[in-house]
Amino acid sequence: MSETSENKASINHGSDADLPQRSRLSFDLDVDIAVVGAGLAGLTVALEAARLGASVAVLEGRHIGWNASGHQLGTVMPGYGVPIADLIARIGLEDTRELWALSKEGAGLVRALATEELMPGIATSEGALEVSKVDVGDHLIARLQMLSEDFETEVEGWQVDRVRAEIKTDRYFHGVYYPKAFQIDGRKYVHGLAALARRAGARIFEDTPVVSIDASGIRKRIVTPSARLRASHIVLAGNVHLGAPLRRLSETLLPVWRYAAVTAPLGERLSEAMTFKGSVSDTDGIDHFRIVEGDRLMWASPETTWAARPERFAGPIQRRIRTIFPLLGPVQIAEVWGGVTGQTVHGMPQIGQLRKGLWVASGFGRQGLNTTAIAGQLIARSILWGDERWRLFSPFELVWAGGATGRVAGLGIGMWNRAAADAAGALARYRERARSREQVREARLAEANRQAGTKPPSSRTPPGRPRPQPPANRHGEKSVS
Ligand SMILES: Cc1cc2nc3c(=O)[nH]c(=O)nc-3n(C[C@H](O)[C@H](O)[C@H](O)COP(=O)(O)OP(=O)(O)OC[C@H]3O[C@@H](n4cnc5c(N)ncnc54)[C@H](O)[C@@H]3O)c2cc1C
Repeated sequence: MSETSENKASINHGSDADLPQRSRLSFDLDVDIAVVGAGLAGLTVALEAARLGASVAVLEGRHIGWNASGHQLGTVMPGYGVPIADLIARIGLEDTRELWALSKEGAGLVRALATEELMPGIATSEGALEVSKVDVGDHLIARLQMLSEDFETEVEGWQVDRVRAEIKTDRYFHGVYYPKAFQIDGRKYVHGLAALARRAGARIFEDTPVVSIDASGIRKRIVTPSARLRASHIVLAGNVHLGAPLRRLSETLLPVWRYAAVTAPLGERLSEAMTFKGSVSDTDGIDHFRIVEGDRLMWASPETTWAARPERFAGPIQRRIRTIFPLLGPVQIAEVWGGVTGQTVHGMPQIGQLRKGLWVASGFGRQGLNTTAIAGQLIARSILWGDERWRLFSPFELVWAGGATGRVAGLGIGMWNRAAADAAGALARYRERARSREQVREARLAEANRQAGTKPPSSRTPPGRPRPQPPANRHGEKSVS
């Protein structure tokens, strides 16, 4: 992928002054495991493999956390980018349970690395709330039951009042609260991972693009502009950027650029609009935000299927904040940045062995923290211990993402989903207002009947009138009205 502005344009998003000097691979090298890419995926594989005693080299074309991994919001949740119901439909309940358990293990590994290893400035905060933009109480109860009973995940159902007591907007209805989810400083985490990997013995070479790979022999060969490397295993953790060394693999991912911003300090007015301290995301996957540094909002929302300058999205994010929190009034945006996620056609990550000794850890989409941790652990343990659990991901094959046509289609589908979700939200709010008007009318009528000594009619719904159904939500299930 050519140099684009998406990451260069990140405005003052952290300082590089405290990072170790970069070193480029300029001599030939022989190792057990070569990892292509120093994002979350590559670094976790490197750390886990080095801890298990392998000699590891990481080759990074730019620098550590150059793209998505250094520009994420740091929310660590269980699960994948695919609704559980879809996973069950595809691979059955038992395998879905195992995959889900792995996703919790992944989150646990991130927590352990971030906190037990005392990554400097990692700033954890607890809890995440997934809010619904439509009024789906019954649906919520079914989901809570499934998560807690079938998937042993600690969750709480929040009724509308509870959600709105902590997040003061009429845009959200019910919520699913994950008390064990948490937040970290995403950029500090990726550099913390690199430091731990180095400490475990892995060597990380930046400004070292891999230009070709020969994976046919027992000892695989990698060529970079100024060196050659031989390894028994190669792990491809290059996300959508992999390019020439295995173009067909890159083409199984649809690149989606996601943009985020942090506001200027908002003072007291932020605590009047939101007291919830964890992260908030809506079930349609449109907005994702949380409070940082006490009185700023960090907010991710817009997406494109092409590279654009992040600054362009300061206005749209400002407007999005205004739409959700009119109470806040005008907000100033202090920084905007973006990163590319790789989306697979089926929505699940690519974790596994392509041929003997050639591994892939890619396609983590918007939920890359727990899932890259799983990938790192499974791949390292398979290479060094023969742990075969990565095969749970085998049903999710490498599917061509459709090239340029796929991007255009992806954009169309993304826009349609967002518009449908907004329409469903508007309908839900309309019905909520209509319901409260109806309640006022009924109270007045009851009072008039009481005074006149007459009985109220049994039902006020005209017979035979169909009730409007909101569109299917992100979980692929019809919302229950
Ligand atoms: C705005 C935003 C917010 C997000 N928020 C969250 C969040 O809150 N929680 C969460 O779980 N996830 C979040 N994500 C998703 C998460 O960031 C990604 O899923 C994750 O970072 C993907 O990691 P990766 O290592 O696969 O890819 P990348 O970070 O893209 O790393 C791949 C690396 O490989 C290198 N590379 C590629 N090809 C070559 C080659 N040929 N030679 C050498 N090097 C190569 C690249 O230079 C790059 O550095 C967010 C993403 C974005 C953009």
